[in-house]
Amino acid sequence: VNIEKDSDPLHVIHVTAEMAPIAKVGGLGDVVTGLARACLLRGHKVDIMLPFYECIQKDDIQELSLLSTYSSYFDGNWIQTNAYSGLVSDIPVILIEPMNQFFKGEDVYGGSYNELEAYLFFSRACLEWMQVTGTQPDIIHVHEWQTGALPLLYWDMYCHLSLHKPRIVLTIHNMEHYGECRQEQLNKCGLDGSLYATIDKAIDDRTIGHNPERLSLLKGAIVYSNSVVTVSPTYLQETLCSGWLASALITNRDKYHGILNGIDTVMWNPASVAFLPANYHAQNTDGKKVCKQYLQRGLGLAFEGRVPLVVCISRLVAQKGLHLIKHAISHIGKHGGQMIVLGKAPDGRVQSEFEALANLHNKGSTIRILLMYSEELSHMLYAGADMVLIPSIYEPCGLAQMIGMRYGSVPIVRKTGGLADTVFDMDDQSQPEMANGFVFEGTDEASLSGALDRAFFYYKEKPIEWANIVQKVMQIDNSWNKTASKYIDVYNSIRVRW
Ligand code: ADP
Repeated sequence: VNIEKDSDPLHVIHVTAEMAPIAKVGGLGDVVTGLARACLLRGHKVDIMLPFYECIQKDDIQELSLLSTYSSYFDGNWIQTNAYSGLVSDIPVILIEPMNQFFKGEDVYGGSYNELEAYLFFSRACLEWMQVTGTQPDIIHVHEWQTGALPLLYWDMYCHLSLHKPRIVLTIHNMEHYGECRQEQLNKCGLDGSLYATIDKAIDDRTIGHNPERLSLLKGAIVYSNSVVTVSPTYLQETLCSGWLASALITNRDKYHGILNGIDTVMWNPASVAFLPANYHAQNTDGKKVCKQYLQRGLGLAFEGRVPLVVCISRLVAQKGLHLIKHAISHIGKHGGQMIVLGKAPDGRVQSEFEALANLHNKGSTIRILLMYSEELSHMLYAGADMVLIPSIYEPCGLAQMIGMRYGSVPIVRKTGGLADTVFDMDDQSQPEMANGFVFEGTDEASLSGALDRAFFYYKEKPIEWANIVQKVMQIDNSWNKTASKYIDVYNSIRVRW
């Protein structure tokens, strides 16, 4: 694609806990990489700062080199810290490695260090690096609670030192993660925690009366950022209506925007990714049939006849509609379909439940439950599937439905958040030109069954229409090319010129 360069380039530094593919747990990692690439292609300068987690594979970083060694404050000490530069999928990264136990462990999250404190350290260490190197981007773009202390540190500390140019954008990817932080923990990054225990700073009005100790890094970041973005227009409305921090968002409504995430069409491209046994595109989907057979054979599923194959690729947490995923497994098994679940449960109890289901089903020829994280396999599943199921209870944006569509898998989703902004029902006569999937509203099992049955009916009884839907969803543009300009408008609305 030929993308026109913006005439007035910005320098944006993302400060984030995740980046795909080197340190990805969920959608946050995808969004940072996709948005960064879209802005780079438009001629902006973009860097991504993230912790140098021990689990990051150094081979996945090109041109990795030590950039600077400096010290950053934490809990009464100055911690020696290395900053490395490199390229990940052609995007410049700066990796922050403290010489202590922070960010050690096999996974991005869940190491044996104190996670909140490690991210408080990281938030300050990024500003400290900008300060010692004299790096003054136009925009510092922070994400989620992990980097929520950065706007406080910037406006109450570093802009009184030598940083003055940057303005701050916060993206909220999921309101569930509130970033609870005690005053004494905030002290550790050098701020006076007691100063933030007010409603107009870092305390939610729901907790002020009974627990002034309980600060919220996300609330602080909402108050202290120049602009706040969440990841879909429908989720923006949902967050204003109810839940934690709704009143903070209402108070800050003027600077609060809903911008739909896109997908990175370089990483998610069925016409070119190396993980697939056959590549394909909307004009010729033959390769998709090869992928389906390869997947069925590889996993020992039946592959004779024309059987609808549904995949569900998801973190296995309550938000994702666990009871509905379980219901889909049994319903699809009984109604002549096949289903593959690819997911990991951070909660041991949920993991055991799904292990039991895997033991029950994985020896048969219709259901596979794969309890692991695998980027490669996810590409295979999106490509080999006929349908992708996302039955979330709530979903700020959701990427699986967009990736699924790009790979020619028709989405079946619950109508919530970003799913409601991107998937429109085939049987909704009011806007047939938008129709691209199957949508249900209730959180009950019958609502899901209804949508599955309708999808199976189309697949089995209307094969020509089905082929047309597949082709249609592959051509829908859910890329960052479409939505990155809205972020650039936000950046431009707050940048200052010196
Ligand atoms: P969330 O951010 O809540 O996890 P999203 O739909 O925004 O949900 O993004 C999920 C991303 O993580 C998608 O790219 C999806 O393919 C990927 N993903 C989730 N679970 C797995 C897994 N077990 N293996 C590989 N990829 C996964």
